[in-house]
Parts: sequence; C-alpha cells; structure tokens
Amino acid sequence: MKQNLHTHSIYCDGKDSIEEMVLEAIDRGFDSIGFSGHGYNYPNDPCSMSDESQQKYMEDIYRANDQYEGRIRIYLGIEEDSIGRRFDHNSFEYIIGSVHFIGQKEFAPIDYSEARFAQILHDWFHDDLLAMAKVYYEAVKEVASREEVDIIGHVDLIAKYNENGKYFDFEDPQYLAYAYDAIDVGIANGKIFEMNTGAIARGYRTMPYPHISLLKYIHDHKGKICMSSDCHNRANLDLDFEVCLELAKMVGFKEMMVLGDEGFVAVPIEEMKA
Ligand SMILES: [Zn+2]
Ligand SMILES: [Zn+2]
Repeated sequence: MKQNLHTHSIYCDGKDSIEEMVLEAIDRGFDSIGFSGHGYNYPNDPCSMSDESQQKYMEDIYRANDQYEGRIRIYLGIEEDSIGRRFDHNSFEYIIGSVHFIGQKEFAPIDYSEARFAQILHDWFHDDLLAMAKVYYEAVKEVASREEVDIIGHVDLIAKYNENGKYFDFEDPQYLAYAYDAIDVGIANGKIFEMNTGAIARGYRTMPYPHISLLKYIHDHKGKICMSSDCHNRANLDLDFEVCLELAKMVGFKEMMVLGDEGFVAVPIEEMKA
C-alpha cells in the first residue's frame, strides 16, 4: 500500500499540474494519491486557492480520477488553514487542518522563510520561543478540535528552522508540555497525525515532522499516524517514506492510517510501501 495525501499543485503553491503529479505517482507505484491544495485564506495570501482556482482544481481532479481509473485512485482533499476558510466533507473527501500563521489581531506566516520566522519571534515574542510555541500550539489545539478535520498537518511546523536545536531545545519540558497538550486534543478527537517530510525536501530538516519525542508521545497515547511528503514538486512525491516507516516501527507503531473508499482504515506497517 502506497499513498500520499498531502500534495500541492499549480492551483496553489506547487510546481506541477494535477496530471503531472498523477503520472509521477503511477510511475512510482502509488496505489492512490490525494491532493490537498491550500484552502482560501485571506485576500493577500498568494499560496492559497481563490474561488476560481479551487473550482478548476476540483474539476481537474475529477477529470483525472475518471481518466486514470483502474491505474490509480485519486482523492480530492484540501488543506485548510487555522485562519482561513473552513471546508466540509460534502465537497472534499478528506481535510488536513494546519497552522501556518500565528498572531492575534494580525497574523504572520511562520514557515515562509527563516528570516520571517526570526523576525516574528523577535518582534512579537521578544525572542521568547516558548511564548511563541504556546501561541502556536493553542492554534493547533483549536484546529485539532474541528469536526471536519481528518489529519493534523505537520503538527510541529514551529520547529521547521530548528535543525540542531538552533532556536530551542526539542526536549525542553515546557515546550513539550505545550506540544503534548495539543496532541492530547487531537487524540481525544480521533485525528490522524502525519509524518511529513516536506521540510526535508526544502533542505531545512533532516528528519520528518513530528520530532521523535512527539511521535513517541503519539504512539504511547494510542494516537494514529499517516505518512506524507507535503509535495510541492513531483520529484519529492515519496521522499524519505522509508525513513518514516523505519521511525514509526522504531517507536512501536504497528499500523498507519490510509484513506480508502470507505474512509480511513488502519493498515499494518509491513504492508506499507516506501
Ligand atoms: Zn502546510
Ligand atoms: Zn501542505
């Protein structure tokens, strides 16, 4: 079983067309692929889909699913942002809920660039990473309690630029307490946490989200996981899936969640392909 439900196309901030992505997925032996274009955010967010591009995105995916029937199953999903429009299962087969922006009255993107991240940390939080983490994980908690959300996207995105602990200690008890608190809400609401290799593709990280301590916590508290590459370029469609499988096994997971025609089902890790 090989699946990736976190992918982006030219309709938002991805590089490739739906068809290019689908052909790549077939080529790499995927059983299914899901598209999760960025749902409409606010008027100035160039990464999210306008009403018009969302319409075309949906039509293009329906068309591809018909055209490639029997070769691959294509799922229509969306990545909804904590501060953007909310979606439902009448229009989409699954929904990823993600936090990319933090703030209160004003919002700023924490993952656009390291310079922007450092600026937000400095200007809004006086370089107090824990204060920033508190606000970030509060937003994750809110998303994790939304009924429509199936998958929590990159749960510790705040650590995107923290390779080698540059901004904070991954094991800081206060940091972990905020993160665990958000994870608890996700688990209580039956959400799936994704192992996401997107930051590896972009050269910021050497390991997938979530950090190993969080992954262990999810496992020990009977949380569910899936695996994705948050793909913005088809060359990375299955990037480091083997690393995800190894890590998941290492911390003790026996299963991963996969979307099928009847909804999400647990599949033994041994049956998952990288
Ligand atoms: Zn995202
Ligand atoms: Zn994404």
